[in-house]
Amino acid sequence: MNRIMKQIVLAVILSASVLCTSPKTASATWFEPLKVHFLDVGQADCILIQMPNGKNMLVDAGDENDGPEIIRYLQSQGVADIDVLVATHPHHDHIGSMDDVIRNFNVKKIYMPNLPYDTAYYHDLFKIINEKNIPVERAKAGTKFRFGFSVKVDMLAPGSAYYKYINDYSAVLRITHGKNRFLLMADAGMESEKELLSSKRDLKANVIKIGHHGANTGTTMAFLKAVHAKTAMISVGNNNPYHYPSKEVLFRLERLNMTIYRTDQLGVITAISNGNKITFRTNGFK
Ligand SMILES: [Zn+2]
Repeated sequence: MNRIMKQIVLAVILSASVLCTSPKTASATWFEPLKVHFLDVGQADCILIQMPNGKNMLVDAGDENDGPEIIRYLQSQGVADIDVLVATHPHHDHIGSMDDVIRNFNVKKIYMPNLPYDTAYYHDLFKIINEKNIPVERAKAGTKFRFGFSVKVDMLAPGSAYYKYINDYSAVLRITHGKNRFLLMADAGMESEKELLSSKRDLKANVIKIGHHGANTGTTMAFLKAVHAKTAMISVGNNNPYHYPSKEVLFRLERLNMTIYRTDQLGVITAISNGNKITFRTNGFK
């Protein structure tokens, strides 16, 4: 490297360090973006989180026929490795295509609640997990991990060993990136919400992925008030037989003046956090 080049490199390093240490620009420039993609998988859940440090987390993997679409979308986003895969609970609309995902990507670690489930798709999932020898850890409240210095993941539920309903075994995740928080409820219902409220922990988030596709089995007013989110994401199928999201849940969200994004109306929805603000990108109306 000649002398002029060295000077140019030094000048670039100096100006970059000024940008990083200046208090006025720190919040705007410090964080690389975090992208949370709510995939359009009909009456099911699949959420891809791309971390600022290049790592990927996938929360659920759609229903049994969603494999090709999930694989295509992940590949279109440049995903090759899935550093953390979360099977929130063993219902078909959350783990139905997880075996396809594991077959097509390099999955490094899996979290799932301790709840064996005697179905063909659950057995298919374990077959491929064992074949590929992927480490599985129990999803439970209190589990924490980080992606680089800027993203923290807290598992807030399940906090108990037994629940009446399988949905309440759901792994509930909170992702923190700078000032922004995303709360992913999976299919958690009232029992899980009650437990979270009684834990007295700070549940505040900017974006909440509404539990159980907007069913009136949860998303209570008390819980929504504690979370105090401005934006609600609902992963739900067009004309689904359950008539989700329920009128009661939509009414509560509207009463709190929340902005509602629905995959049945908008297709894939991507929330992009810079650690300070969150912007939303959609494919537009379907
Ligand atoms: Zn579900």
